[in-house]
Amino acid sequence: MVKKVLKFGGTSVGTIERIQHVANIIKKEHSEKNKVIAVVSAMSGKTNELLKLSNEIAEDFNKRELDVLLSSGEQVTCALLSGALTRLNIKSKSFMNWQIPILTEGDHSNARIINIHVEKINDYLNNNGVAIVPGFQGISKNGDITTIGRGGSDATAVAIAKIFNAECCEIYTDVDGVFSTDPNKIPVAKKIDKISYDEMLELSSLGAKVMQSSAVQTAMMYDIPLEVKSTFTERKGTKIFSQENIDYTKSVTGVAYSKDDAKITVKEVEDKPGVAANMFEPLSKAQVNVDMVIQNISSDQKTTDITFTVKRDDISKTKQILKESTSINYKEIISNEKVAKVSIVGAGMVSTPGVTYKMFRGLSDENINILAISTSEIKLSVIIDEENTLKAVKKLHTIFDLD
Ligand code: ADP
Ligand code: ASP
Ligand code: MG
Repeated sequence: MVKKVLKFGGTSVGTIERIQHVANIIKKEHSEKNKVIAVVSAMSGKTNELLKLSNEIAEDFNKRELDVLLSSGEQVTCALLSGALTRLNIKSKSFMNWQIPILTEGDHSNARIINIHVEKINDYLNNNGVAIVPGFQGISKNGDITTIGRGGSDATAVAIAKIFNAECCEIYTDVDGVFSTDPNKIPVAKKIDKISYDEMLELSSLGAKVMQSSAVQTAMMYDIPLEVKSTFTERKGTKIFSQENIDYTKSVTGVAYSKDDAKITVKEVEDKPGVAANMFEPLSKAQVNVDMVIQNISSDQKTTDITFTVKRDDISKTKQILKESTSINYKEIISNEKVAKVSIVGAGMVSTPGVTYKMFRGLSDENINILAISTSEIKLSVIIDEENTLKAVKKLHTIFDLD
C-alpha cells in the first residue's frame, strides 16, 4: 500500500466523459490498495472564461474577488469527480481549500502554499476513502481565498506530495510526457524518458508549460520524484528526478519558447559609471524583473544604447518609470513587443564545446536575426522576431539531433 498524489489537468477533466475516465484511473489505483489524493484543475477553458467575465465588469477587477471567482472552477471539478467515484462505489469526498485548510502567504493571484493541515485527509485515507482536492488555491491567514498563479495545480500537487509524505506524485496531462519541444506545435518532438530537475526547471521557466516552474522548483528542493504521463494512453511517461541518475548522450535535451517578453532600447544614454545602476534601480524597486541586458557603444563614443528585456505585462510600467526617472539622460526609448524568446536547454551542454556557435549558425542559416542573448550553464536563450518563432524552434530541434 502506498500513498499517491495524482494530479489531473484541465483537458483531462474537460468533459463529463473525461471525468468518468479519470474516476476509472483512480478506481484502479484504489483497488490496488493505494491511498489516493487526487488534485484537480478546472475543466479546460474554465479559468479563462471566468477571467473574461471579471474583465467585463472591470479590467482592474477587485483582486480578492478575482481569487474567489477563479478558484470556483476547481470546486466544480472536485464535486463532479467525487460524484463519479461514488457512482463507481468508491468511497470519496471533496475537501475544499478552506476545509483542509491549505494555507498560503503572499499577494492575491500570486500566493504561495506554506502549510497544509493533514489530519482530516489522513483520517479519511486511513478509512479507505479517496480525497479530492482543488488545485491552484488556498486561504490566507485572514481566511481569504487565494490563488497561486496560472497552471498552479501542479504546485498544489507537489506541495501535497511533500506535506503528506506521499511515495509519488503523478502529473496526468494531455500529452504522453515531457517532450523535446511542444509536440502540439512540432510533431517530430520526441518524448523524454527521464530528465533532471534542473533541466525541467529551465524548460518550464522558458515556456514549456507541461509543468509549472514553481512546482518543479519545490520538487527539486525537497527531492520529490515526479512523473508526467498521459490521462488518455497507457504509455510510459517522463520521470523527473535528481541529476546523478541520468546519462547524457546529447548536448541539448529540449527546445522551449515563450512570447511573454518585450524588448526595450534606451538610446544615447550617457556612457559613464553608474548609469546602468541608475536605470535599473527604480525598476527593481517597482518589482520589474529585467532579464537580458545588452549595452552598445554608440557612434559618438560618448553615449551608449542599453537594450534589455522585461515581461510584456510590465512594459508600460517600465516605460513610465524610465520617463519619470531624473537620474538618467537619454535621447529616446524604443520598445518592441513582437519578440519571442527561444531557448535550448541541456545538462550535456556543459561538456560539449561549440553549442553556442552551432545555435547561432543554425539561426543565421534561416536568416533569423538575434536581438539579445543570455546564457547559463545549461541553457542558451535568444530573443528574435516573434514571426520567426516556429522556424527557429524547428531548426534548433533538427540541428541538435532531437527530431
Ligand atoms: P494540464 O492542463 O494537464 O496542466 P497544460 O496545458 O498545462 O496541461 O500542459 C500540457 C501542454 O504543454 C501540452 O498540451 C503541450 O502543448 C504543452 N507543452 C509545451 N512544451 C511541452 C513539452 N516540452 N513537452 C510536452 N508538452 C509541452
Ligand atoms: N485552472 C488553473 C489555470 O487554468 C490552474 C491549473 O489548471 O493548473 O491556470
Ligand atoms: Mg498545466
